[in-house]
Amino acid sequence: MASSNNVSLEKITALAKRRGFIFPGSEIYGGLANVYDYGPVGVELLLNIKKLWWQRFVTRRVDILGLDTAILMNPKVWQASGHTQSFTDVMVDCKNCKLRTRADHLLENYINQKKIGFDLKKIQGLGIKELGLIFKKHKIPCPECGQSDWTEPRHFNLLFETHIGILPEKKSLTYLRGEIAQGMFVNFKNVIDSFRVLNPELEYGLPFGIAQAGKAFRNEITKGNLIFRMLEFNLAEIEYFFDPKKQNWQKIFESWRIEMEKWVFEELRLSKKNIKWRVHSEKERAHYSKHTEDLEYNFPFGFKELYGLAYRTDYDLKNHMEKSGQDLTFTDPKTGQKILPHVIEPTFGLDRTFLALLCEHYWEDKVNKRVVLKLPPKLAPFKVAVFPLLANNQNLVNKAKKVFELLKPNLATAWDARGNIGKRYYSQDEIGTPFGITIDHQTLKDKTVTLRDRDTTFQKRIKIQKLISYLSSLLR
Ligand SMILES: [Zn+2]
Repeated sequence: MASSNNVSLEKITALAKRRGFIFPGSEIYGGLANVYDYGPVGVELLLNIKKLWWQRFVTRRVDILGLDTAILMNPKVWQASGHTQSFTDVMVDCKNCKLRTRADHLLENYINQKKIGFDLKKIQGLGIKELGLIFKKHKIPCPECGQSDWTEPRHFNLLFETHIGILPEKKSLTYLRGEIAQGMFVNFKNVIDSFRVLNPELEYGLPFGIAQAGKAFRNEITKGNLIFRMLEFNLAEIEYFFDPKKQNWQKIFESWRIEMEKWVFEELRLSKKNIKWRVHSEKERAHYSKHTEDLEYNFPFGFKELYGLAYRTDYDLKNHMEKSGQDLTFTDPKTGQKILPHVIEPTFGLDRTFLALLCEHYWEDKVNKRVVLKLPPKLAPFKVAVFPLLANNQNLVNKAKKVFELLKPNLATAWDARGNIGKRYYSQDEIGTPFGITIDHQTLKDKTVTLRDRDTTFQKRIKIQKLISYLSSLLR
């Protein structure tokens, strides 16, 4: 199965490894399942995604404030939020070979392979008993040993346990955060007490949002499709608080749907045909949500969740208010009334954004026999690469170094003097560098260089002194 861009996950994985985007975690020790590291090129792309997100949703808005909260939290947070109870996946164990796996994923793969008449969309809405019955009825085989001898499906908690303290008798149990939202809910009072929160009309009051980006952890064991499903992953999220008596949740939900689509189409440049929304069924919805929709991307392994949009009501603030005994209401500056705000939560998976960008912009240029990552220039790890035409001509190398040093403080600039010029271009094409600059003999005479465009391979000559302003205008 391939996305409509027709690139396989194998090709993406190979490119990611070859060019330093993504490495398997702890690889020299045989790796660690569902853990990956970002390489020298990958970390730049990930940071660029995060920076662009932050600019768009925090820096440039009056009504959203940023936070950066800790991964470790008081375990009472996770009891109050319901995660110690309800943050679960349904798993089955093979009685023969002891494989433990997610029941819904197993069923989904089986249906995809056998093409049995079952609506895939219904799987996520199935209860634990119904799943058990389907496993028996269809004799779903174990992917490891081929037998069909399963335990009844059971809930397993996804919170990662850890311990604080080094003395065994004094160790206390806590968790790596299972979502980044709780850090924002437990700081709600700190934020409104320390900052005059503004709504979009520049008035003090609701609605306003709190945002953060950071790592969350889930103790999952299902095969992850590269960085699609990892034990630790990067999220960017907004909690958008509003007064349910004055603002209609459907309207706010709808406005966030539009904001998320704009981000996807304008900044990431994903194509419309590769994006769709899917409404969660009642059984699938997380315990805190009244309405959830996923924005799905057409990955090489099918349409899957890229982002989520959830109406969490006042579930979290209410529970934290009860369990902590602290007043988490917001006082309306006009009426003096105390309001317990409701919240709409757009969640952006940053690793999934990364993977979608690779899949969407991967292009095999048959004419020029090359692979190109047509990344939006704003997100490209390097904006420009500088090459001396001949690596053994000291005059050219010296001049090229001068151009490199001129550009480097202003733009993310790569340097390459290996092999021939064609190979250097192709290796930059594969990491998505929008422009290549070559210093040749004519440069020494008239201070011009050739500037090559990644997508068209078209080349033009341009004065060195005009490079920064010219490139900056194209990279906007
Ligand atoms: Zn088995």
